[in-house]
Formats: sequence, structure tokens, C-alpha cells
Amino acid sequence: MKPSPFTYHRPGTTEAAVGLLTELGTDAKVLAGGQSLVPLLNMRLAAPPHLVDINQLQELNYVRATGTSPDGAGPAVVVGAAARHADVERDPAAHQALPLLRRALRHVAHPTIRNRGTTVGSIVHADPAGEMTAVLALLDGSVELRSANGSRRVGAADFFVGPLESAAEPGELAVSATFPVPPGQTGTAWLEVARRHGDYAVCGVGALVTVDADHRVVGARAAYISVDTTPVVLDLLDAVGTGPADTADWSAAGRLAASTLRPDADIHATAEYRRHLAAVLTGRALTAAALDARGRGVNHHTGETEETA
Ligand SMILES: Cc1cc2nc3c(=O)[nH]c(=O)nc-3n(C[C@H](O)[C@H](O)[C@H](O)COP(=O)(O)OP(=O)(O)OC[C@H]3O[C@@H](n4cnc5c(N)ncnc54)[C@H](O)[C@@H]3O)c2cc1C
Repeated sequence: MKPSPFTYHRPGTTEAAVGLLTELGTDAKVLAGGQSLVPLLNMRLAAPPHLVDINQLQELNYVRATGTSPDGAGPAVVVGAAARHADVERDPAAHQALPLLRRALRHVAHPTIRNRGTTVGSIVHADPAGEMTAVLALLDGSVELRSANGSRRVGAADFFVGPLESAAEPGELAVSATFPVPPGQTGTAWLEVARRHGDYAVCGVGALVTVDADHRVVGARAAYISVDTTPVVLDLLDAVGTGPADTADWSAAGRLAASTLRPDADIHATAEYRRHLAAVLTGRALTAAALDARGRGVNHHTGETEETA
């Protein structure tokens, strides 16, 4: 199918893009990588009279691992709106600061789609099956939105409003997403089950485990995709307890997750199967994150521990 007619704009500066978007309001859509928007246009599920292409905005084409996040908090990885998933995935400083980004991004579609699709675009698109929505939520990250009337920063907890619905208003451009680096000795992992590699996950789990100097657990959180209308973050420390990480009962966290989450059934899986996946993946992801916190990883294909990059 072909899209409805639209007027195509390709501004050369962020200021011009923001001015156009604010002027056009609900009549315009931002065109970033186009990997989600173009299929919607072609199927006529969206028919905006104007498209504002942000691919010329070199000033938004960056991935920065910074010592201080833009909101004045600690270290963070900041991703500009024109940066592709592949730019984030391959950035050595971003990987060094926050290995979870690459771990999750490897599950986002296929390399060709990651070469075009933007990380900020996937966050604004707010697909409840989108990996980067849950990564942002797990890390308590934020999105900077800009319009001709000024800028505002929205935390992940308020950003994801519903399926394919974010806090970005018509007339606003999301200029960047900030992924804070967790403090202390923290390990992360991303695990998911999809019918084929590169498909949207039937259930996906990002895990974050923090240990103290004696390797006792002081933090255990997980974020989930494809189990609700927005990404869901659960604090699982009570289920795991604050004992030594090596002997923690990570499966207890899985049981808590399965009893807390309320997934729906669809053509891909029953709700019960999704809860089962959430339980199993939570236990495994927390185990891997705890090993990662100690500088060791686990290969879930072989079950062997390995050094993490
Ligand atoms: C076959 C296939 C498989 C996929 N599998 C996955 C997957 O497993 N996991 C996953 O997470 N994603 C997947 N995707 C989606 C992919 O990650 C997209 O790149 C992403 O969802 C949207 O990013 P984009 O840059 O292409 O945005 P676009 O398609 O250009 O835009 C998407 C929406 O966000 C808005 N938007 C984009 N950028 C901004 C901005 N800066 N400010 C304001 N609004 C903005 C647009 O107006 C539009 O409404 C898949 C896509 C395809 C085609």
C-alpha cells in the first residue's frame, strides 16, 4: 500500500525542526529512522499531513558517555535523537559505561533495522515490546523534549503512558534520552524469548543487581517488556533478601514477578505462558546480573561462566 499524501520537510537545524513541529502541531509527525512510522504510513494507520525528517540534524547525532548527566546527577550515557540503534550498540565508551545497552540492543530486530532505527525514536514510539523502553525504565532514565516554548525533561516513570503512547506532545521533539549509570558494584543482564531471533519478544527481562563490598545483595530490580501496556519495573529485593549474592534464591524473585505481572494473551502466547517466561527469565537474568556484578558472566547457551567485556 502507499501512504496518504504528505508534505515532506527536511530542516537542517534542531531549531528549525522544533519551530516547524511547534507550528504544525498535531498535523506533523517526526520522521526518524522510519522503521516503525513508514509501515504505519503505508498501511494508512497514520496519515499525518506533514512529516518532519530529522535525519539531517547532525547536532543530534551523538552517543556520549558523560561523567555527569544533563540533570546534574551522576554518570550517564546520553543518546541524541539522530543516533541509530547501531551507533549506540557499537559505541565503545557507552558499552564500557553501561553494558546493558548493547546487551538489550542485540535483541532489537535485525542489524539492518538497527542501522536505520533510532534509539530515541523507539523510546518515543513506546511499543510495550520495545527493549529500550524497559532499559530506560530500569535505569530510571529520562527524555528531553523540546518545543519552540522551551525544554522539559520527563523521567521514564512518567514517559510511558500506554501502548504506542508517550508523554511527548504534538509539537515537541525528543532531542535526547539519558541512561544513568547505576552506582556502586552493579551488574546487568538482558534475556528474552522471541519466536525467531529479531522478532518482538514474547517476554523480555532486563535485570540489575547491586552488591556491596562483601558481595551481599543490596539491590535487585527487573524490567519487563511484552507483559503490559507499558514497560514494568519491579523491585525484587524483598524476595531475594540481602544475603550473599552467591547463595541468593533468585528463583524466588521469579515467583514474585510471575504473581505480580498481569500479561494478556494474544496470538503469540497465553497469559499463563508469559507469566511462566517472566518467572524463568527473571531468575536467570538476576543470576547473570549478579555474576556480572562480580565481573563474571554466564553464557545462557552453554551455561558456562565467562568474563564479561
Ligand atoms: C521488522 C521489524 C522488527 C522490529 N523489531 C523490533 C524489536 O524487536 N524491538 C524493538 O524495540 N523495535 C523493533 N522494531 C522497531 C525499531 O526499533 C524502530 O527503529 C523503532 O521502534 C522506531 O525508531 P525509528 O527511529 O525507526 O522511528 P520512526 O519509525 O521514524 O518513528 C516512530 C514514531 O516515533 C516518533 N518519533 C521518532 N523520533 C522522534 C523524536 N526524536 N521526537 C518525537 N517523536 C519521534 C515518530 O513521529 C513516530 O511516531 C522493529 C521494526 C521492524 C521494521
